[in-house]
Amino acid sequence: MLTFEELLETWDGETVVMHRDGESGGWIFVCLHSTRLGPAGGGTRMQVYGTPAEALEDAMRLSAGMSRKLAVAGLPFGGGKAVIAVPEIPGGDRRRALFLRYGDLVASLGGTYRTSSDMNTGEADMDVIGERTQYVFGRSVEAGGSGSPAPPTAVGVYHGIRASLSHVFGSDDLEGRIVVVQGAGGVGSPLADHLANAGASVVVTDIDLERAHAVAARVGGAAVPADQIFETECDVYAPCAVGGILSTETVPRLRCRIVAGSANNQLAEPEAAELLHARGILYAPDYVINAGGAIAIVGLEQLGWSKSELDTSLARIGETLRQIYKQADERGISTAAAADILADERLKAS
Ligand code: NAD
Repeated sequence: MLTFEELLETWDGETVVMHRDGESGGWIFVCLHSTRLGPAGGGTRMQVYGTPAEALEDAMRLSAGMSRKLAVAGLPFGGGKAVIAVPEIPGGDRRRALFLRYGDLVASLGGTYRTSSDMNTGEADMDVIGERTQYVFGRSVEAGGSGSPAPPTAVGVYHGIRASLSHVFGSDDLEGRIVVVQGAGGVGSPLADHLANAGASVVVTDIDLERAHAVAARVGGAAVPADQIFETECDVYAPCAVGGILSTETVPRLRCRIVAGSANNQLAEPEAAELLHARGILYAPDYVINAGGAIAIVGLEQLGWSKSELDTSLARIGETLRQIYKQADERGISTAAAADILADERLKAS
């Protein structure tokens, strides 16, 4: 495990703000990876870590990912991320007091970092932060926010699936195509609706099998047990649950032509992207196809977009993927590598 000094020396980002939160016994790290395209944007994750250095490393890694994600999404934002490392996840008054203190910290950065929710934080926490600073996205509708980012994320994934079908089959028509949706939650459930409405045969899976059955029944599809996901034959596998599902162990088992879903950090290891490429399975890079929620909260809460402007921007996810697929083909590289090249070009060009 690297020390604070080693982590800071080897990081390619701009600024790290560290705060020892004496009241909770925790640490807060705000990492501003890049502000070249605009203020650093990215969620606040709250988690129990083994050591503070592990939390710092996580925040550094996640903030670098946000730079690429927001650059490819074409938003006027750089990448940032905050981690609140706590001895235990707090509730009630202690949680509220922590988020008020955290709100003061975000306020002190004067808008160079703008937060939203992430793992173990949500709308209610963003409302509390909003009592102390205007630099917060994803508050509740009552507190002036734009509502859940999951439905626009599903719309973005839908456009991404169509673009992927078009690249593989020469047509983006969903009629008769089989799409397996892994995870019938906030994103997977509305995604299943969009796909079924466009004529796809939808297969749903979830560790909560009842939830899978409910969504499958609603969209006229089928449900399969969660452990059969990799062996299920389909045109498109849409991971909308957990990350780390694409590895050198699972990719050889896949029986699909396309992997395109919302889950974050789908590649368990970089080699999985190469293996997908070698097997001729088209992979929609996760941070490109799942940007719909970020696009919606920034567009609606900061840029004053109308509904139709948002729709146009979500459809652009499909166009960006087409561009990435073309580049990958021309250069003979994986789509994951092509996405990283596009992101890095946009970051350098600014
Ligand atoms: P969610 O918690 O609402 O739903 C996830 C669903 O997946 C749940 O129904 C859960 O039971 C199921 N699940 C968990 N593990 C599973 C497994 N191993 N196999 C099958 N099902 C499993 O989450 P969500 O908001 O729909 O997000 C889904 C994924 O998309 C996550 O990886 C999330 O990080 C990512 N993502 C979400 C958004 C968003 O706006 N919500 C944006 C970008 C990325």
